[in-house]
Amino acid sequence: MSLRGRGVAPGDGHAGIEVDHDFDRQCMAAALTMARQARDAGEVPVGAVVALRGAIIGRGRNQSIRACDPGAHAEMLAIRDAARALGNHRLAGACLYVTLEPCVMCAGAIAHARLARLVFGARDERFGAAGGALNLLESPFVNHHCAITAGLEAPDCAALLQDFFAARRADAGPAAS
Ligand SMILES: [Zn+2]
Repeated sequence: MSLRGRGVAPGDGHAGIEVDHDFDRQCMAAALTMARQARDAGEVPVGAVVALRGAIIGRGRNQSIRACDPGAHAEMLAIRDAARALGNHRLAGACLYVTLEPCVMCAGAIAHARLARLVFGARDERFGAAGGALNLLESPFVNHHCAITAGLEAPDCAALLQDFFAARRADAGPAAS
């Protein structure tokens, strides 16, 4: 991990966690690449990666439609990929980067995986479980809390989703709007 651009995660009550801002941006760029792959496959464009000690160890992109799997969100697949790579169902010390604020299911998986930190791009006011619609990750109902950094590359992450849904509405025609 580079020593350049290091700082401490602001305002999340986890001041002990060191943050490498350059590495954060690299990881979010990798998550955006996964999101574009999802888009190109006709899926809602959300991508995620898991990183540990300065290296990406898991990747996932949303593929619920093709996999006929409502659980196949980018975060779930990135967490599974990382757990397989480590040979451990606990991802202590790892960080999840995802282009959209996680839903309730994925927030649950983040807690179960004991991830140390979550970094997300676009806020999801309707379904986000990391402070958008609710804050499961900091609630007393989960037994593991992680540091949260919101809004990294948010404009790029949100634009992917907005363009995707605009194109889908256009394809569906005015009757479906
Ligand atoms: Zn989810």
